[in-house]
Amino acid sequence: MKKIAVIGGGPAGMCAAGKAASMGADVTLFEKNKLLGMKLGITGKGRCNVTNNCTPDDFIKNMTKNGKFMFSAINSFSSADTMELFESLGVPLKTERGNRVFPVSDKAHDVVMALKKYVLESGAKIVNEKVTSLIPNETGERIAFVETDKRRYEFDAVIVCTGGVSYPGTGSDGDGLRFAEELGLKVTPTIPSLIGLTSDDPCCPEMQGLALKNVGVCVIDTGKKSKKIYEDFGEMIFTHFGVSGPTILSASAHMRPMEKDRYEVQIDLKPALDEEKLDKRIISDFDKYKNKEFANALCDLLPSSMIAPVVARTGIPANKKVNSIKQKERRELVCVLKKFTVKISGTRPINEAIVTSGGVAVSEISPNTMQAKKLENLYFAGEVIDVDAYTGGFNLQIAFSTAMKAAEAAVNKLYEEV
Ligand SMILES: Cc1cc2nc3c(=O)[nH]c(=O)nc-3n(C[C@H](O)[C@H](O)[C@H](O)COP(=O)(O)OP(=O)(O)OC[C@H]3O[C@@H](n4cnc5c(N)ncnc54)[C@H](O)[C@@H]3O)c2cc1C
Repeated sequence: MKKIAVIGGGPAGMCAAGKAASMGADVTLFEKNKLLGMKLGITGKGRCNVTNNCTPDDFIKNMTKNGKFMFSAINSFSSADTMELFESLGVPLKTERGNRVFPVSDKAHDVVMALKKYVLESGAKIVNEKVTSLIPNETGERIAFVETDKRRYEFDAVIVCTGGVSYPGTGSDGDGLRFAEELGLKVTPTIPSLIGLTSDDPCCPEMQGLALKNVGVCVIDTGKKSKKIYEDFGEMIFTHFGVSGPTILSASAHMRPMEKDRYEVQIDLKPALDEEKLDKRIISDFDKYKNKEFANALCDLLPSSMIAPVVARTGIPANKKVNSIKQKERRELVCVLKKFTVKISGTRPINEAIVTSGGVAVSEISPNTMQAKKLENLYFAGEVIDVDAYTGGFNLQIAFSTAMKAAEAAVNKLYEEV
């Protein structure tokens, strides 16, 4: 029986191990943690957005880096296949807003347990050891040995599924990238993606904890003649460091290269009203509060912690009587409400990123097999590869599609060689 090592027991590793073993290979899954799928267990705020119910074409449109590389893998194992796999493993699924797919139970733990079941029922062994290096044969054409912190093993093929470098406490701390570099493969620099944005603007800590729903978020690249590079609608939050929340995380994937003060986030606080309608709404509020001071007349329009920062940006004195505010000043208020701008100084550190962008260069890997072009029995799957996508279940789908592709190719090749 041909022996395959799968390194890393995250979603990619568990899928690869389950698939390769179900195809008849003798599979050992190495995981350095005591538990499998530690990161998977915290995905989707503990609910696990397991995939996105979309076509392969739409999946590729939602990739933020190296989408073309995924063409073969996603067409071989699509979101529909992922859903079928989980349903067959006893995890009923539901589709929510934006085609995001979750387990009906809302428990990421159920997804982890289902994949563990897939691994064990397919006959793969789980070995809780940390892989320390991959050792090539004398000619350097293939990997001959897998060395762990305990001993050395001999394998016919190796699938590296060690993840990126984000959330290192879950076990993904870049070992696979090191293995690739040691074997002479190019690794592109890792940067955070789907990450909170920092700002030096004091309004952020001032409004810390303020979550805004149903706002428009747009990112301007001031380095490109003020080009709009991203637009979205939904939720965001002000934090002690800057801004975060779903729309901001997605926006961060577009802000490459990240340079201090290059990007601005413009928040449309009233996206349902155009400037004219908003002005009418303000006139009506000002009429209601005509004897109040400006800052006190905004209580219906804005959350209380936002009033002072908005007032400051209009240049209208906070204590000016509403009935003496001129049309020009009101227009200024409309402008601030439609384009509340926060200058971005950078991102939070990579260890806080939902996803690592960068990794083993796609030019080193065959997209039809996930096999390293330079080493004939070495395969990669999941976040260790330099591919990433938006939020919405696409990153886990990358893990599943590449893992299935790698496992299938590795087993088929070994049996062809017999
Ligand atoms: C907070 C958070 C929420 C997320 N939510 C979602 C979501 O809802 N939907 C979505 O699509 N994506 C989500 N993601 C992204 C998703 O979790 C990752 O893209 C996915 O886990 C990558 O899978 P992987 O198997 O490639 O790597 P990982 O999940 O990182 O697994 C790698 C495994 O390899 C093991 N390992 C590493 N080195 C070694 C070694 N030397 N020896 C043995 N074992 C090793 C690690 O311990 C780990 O278990 C989220 C990420 C985070 C951080």
